[in-house]
Amino acid sequence: MADQQEFTFQTEIKQLLHILSHSLYQNPEIALRELISNASDSLNKLRHIRLSDEKYRSDDPLEITLEPNKEAKMLVIRDTGIGLTHEELVQNLGTIAHSGSKEFLRSLTAAPQSKDGQPDLSLIGQFGVGFYSAFMLAEKVEVITRSYRDEQGWRWESDGSGRFTITQAEGEIPRGAQIRLHLKDDMLDFLEPYRLKGVVRKYSTFVPFPIRLEEETVNEQKPIWVEPKSQVTEDQHASFYQWLTHRTDEKPLWHLHLNSDSPIQFYSILYCPQSNFELLGFGQSDHGVNLCAKRVLVQDDCKDLLPEYLRFLYGVVDSADLPLNVSRETLQDHKLLPKLKKVLTKKVLDHLASLAEENPETFKTFYKQFSSILRTGIGHDFENRERIAKLMRFHSSHAVGETPVENNGSRPDPTVSLDDYLKRAAEGQTQIYYLSGPDLGALSRHPHLEAFRKRNLEVLFLTDPIDEFALTQLFNYSGKQLISIDSADVKFPDSTKPADEAERPGAPAHFTRVVELFRGALDGKVSDVRESERLTDSPCCLVNVQGTMSSQLQNVLRHSMKEYEVSKRILELNPHSPLVTRLCELTVNPENDEFIRDCGRQLFANAQILDGLVPDVEDTTNRSLRFMEELSRHRTTIAT
Ligand code: ADP
Repeated sequence: MADQQEFTFQTEIKQLLHILSHSLYQNPEIALRELISNASDSLNKLRHIRLSDEKYRSDDPLEITLEPNKEAKMLVIRDTGIGLTHEELVQNLGTIAHSGSKEFLRSLTAAPQSKDGQPDLSLIGQFGVGFYSAFMLAEKVEVITRSYRDEQGWRWESDGSGRFTITQAEGEIPRGAQIRLHLKDDMLDFLEPYRLKGVVRKYSTFVPFPIRLEEETVNEQKPIWVEPKSQVTEDQHASFYQWLTHRTDEKPLWHLHLNSDSPIQFYSILYCPQSNFELLGFGQSDHGVNLCAKRVLVQDDCKDLLPEYLRFLYGVVDSADLPLNVSRETLQDHKLLPKLKKVLTKKVLDHLASLAEENPETFKTFYKQFSSILRTGIGHDFENRERIAKLMRFHSSHAVGETPVENNGSRPDPTVSLDDYLKRAAEGQTQIYYLSGPDLGALSRHPHLEAFRKRNLEVLFLTDPIDEFALTQLFNYSGKQLISIDSADVKFPDSTKPADEAERPGAPAHFTRVVELFRGALDGKVSDVRESERLTDSPCCLVNVQGTMSSQLQNVLRHSMKEYEVSKRILELNPHSPLVTRLCELTVNPENDEFIRDCGRQLFANAQILDGLVPDVEDTTNRSLRFMEELSRHRTTIAT
């Protein structure tokens, strides 16, 4: 017997194996699916090598065979693919830390889908550690393999408890790999042909190579994307989707079946999942679209077919204009890819726009799950940014119900689109107004809104800074400028002038003195203090000097960069608010000057808080303490 080498599994793989081999109550069928999918990948690689390298040209069959052996209680999954060299066995099956194993372990503890409190293992294939699922079925696994580049065959073996061995395989080993599963006693039903057929048809029917069992081909291998749209059933879509995503029992949220002849010939089916894994903290998901040339897979998970902001879609794109032997390296430079990407992107965005019209419930689910990824496209895809913006939904001052925040803090879904907004915009309105802040309650009570309410002008409420980044980058929609209402550039349409505007009395006497005292007190903190024309009830507000970012955006920058300095703003005073009017009266006695200055400082702190900024904490709390002490001295101790 040849020398036997012993290896220890890498730590995370050891943990994974422990979970897999003790996974009662899990669906063991997924193990077969993963092993067949590995065999298919390997066959595909070989097909590609044959096409691109003369040396390996041959036409012996590329296929997968399932061989149940009842006497030996063993199920063999055999493929005629590329096989593994000694080094590949060591690296790929056990010793090299693989980011996927760590992520998969993490997902098992985080996964919300856990059934009966058990982690859901069915997604294992998405993490690149599918091979190990073999230990759900088997107490011992052998891999007998020979690489297409090797004369020598090898035998890998493990009982999943922490170690594996590799020995030279004796005799003539055919090219490819055989995975020998020594089945656990409660898994012997996987030796029954009807059972195996059932599993293959359920999970692996779209594998593009024949899967053979007792001389028979079990899978259909039908490329449904080249079929006429109307002939593909929902069930076929569901099982194709499940095969692509490894998401057992899930149906796609929506699909898009495309067929084009010019300018480029292609067929495509794209699927949108029900949920966004990125929202669950799984990190950025990989692209999931496979590129085929005349039904033959050229590249899986191709990144060049859809922009980053549509990375959550799965599917296939098949073009006859692509040469079969294109290599992964030259594929990137292939001029067809950007063209395909352009067409597909536009089709997806148009599809979403019609989904919003025709199937609002589905669109709502889609929006909840994927809008956070989608809207990043506004900053990156100049050509399509209006199309993406059209799909965005907002809260607004006019949104139905006008009860922006539930008592339990939960938020209603945003429903207002930019098109809805424009439909009810005022005559002569040239700007789309928005206000952003951390929560809807504070937004709807914001002093800046007073003037807009009075004029019945709608203001979009943005609670996520990403939305505001997106709108800032968009700048214009349908020819109207998007503007934060805390900006000094806001223009009111003439048609909305309130009736009582003309009669607005002038500022009370000594108002300029109050302004002067405030300026002194806030020197270096604000860029100016001036009379406000937009406030009706509140005593003051802060506005941004022309051309600077809104307060909310500046807040975000301040949180992400320590050295970021919020730009100075203008403090606008409402001379008709009771407090300011009273302060005007108090100016006649110079002894009140310091009190008036203190009021200026406190009003500025209040306005900062309203904008989500933290004022000078010690200064502010000390001052309000002094105010309270002073007020309490004026109260009487005798009950009336
Ligand atoms: P993934 O296939 O997602 O990379 P797996 O854990 O299923 O993760 O497999 C790990 C690696 O082992 C594969 O990337 C591949 O290199 C190798 N491998 C697995 N099965 C086979 C096979 N049947 N033939 C050749 N190589 C295989």
